[in-house]
Amino acid sequence: MTTLDDSIQVVHQRLEAARIRAERAQGSVRLLAVSKTRTADEVRAAHAAGLRAFGENYVQEGLDKIAALADLRNDLEWHLIGPLQSNKTRVVAEGFDWVHSVDRLRTAERLSAQRPPDLPPLQVCLQVNISGEASKSGASPAELPALARAVAALPRLRLRGLMAIPAPAEGLEAQREPHRALRELLERLRADGLALDTLSMGMSDDLEAAILEGATLVRIGTAIFGSRPALQAPTRSLTGVAG
Ligand SMILES: *Cc1c(COP(=O)(O)O)cnc(C)c1O
Repeated sequence: MTTLDDSIQVVHQRLEAARIRAERAQGSVRLLAVSKTRTADEVRAAHAAGLRAFGENYVQEGLDKIAALADLRNDLEWHLIGPLQSNKTRVVAEGFDWVHSVDRLRTAERLSAQRPPDLPPLQVCLQVNISGEASKSGASPAELPALARAVAALPRLRLRGLMAIPAPAEGLEAQREPHRALRELLERLRADGLALDTLSMGMSDDLEAAILEGATLVRIGTAIFGSRPALQAPTRSLTGVAG
């Protein structure tokens, strides 16, 4: 057993314990390994350890890894979970399987128009600014219903659900609150007739709270790969990523 195998096993145990506590069905929570700042070789090792779905925050860094791991492409699922500017939509539509960070119609329209016809529809979540932080991206809960209806109608996208990055909170009850709010937003959209099945929420520090509130896809970085260098954007020099 490598350190990576150990970490993955611990994460699976945490997911499973929370799923059982929440009395949810087996297989109802998927693990998305967040590989930002990690090398292609680390992703390759994580694949060898059994992981299949990987999340990237930065478009170019993700595309570089997708290219470096082209031999595994059919066995990997690549998710963009970081902010997406409209000048990057084409390469994202061509390279990724999922985008979690759609928060405006213009971006969604471009992704749909640019999704290559030989690929399956791009799987999409709408990001919601669930904690109402001025600095955070994401649609507001008020604009969500109209946005969701419009995105669901785009031909080359498949709207799957909602994603959020709540403000950090201490303690299970405080952590559950924003996750509950996101679940309630999803339930309202479903009541309005949209066929949505995905709640992308929960990270290394709050995955239990997220699963108790219905997360179907948790995005886990640190608990799998270890802590990232403290200094990230905008100075990326410590990560060894060029540029
Ligand atoms: C970095 C990141 C994660 C993973 O966070 P950890 O605390 O390392 O598990 C999940 N989601 C998003 C959007 C991130 O940027």
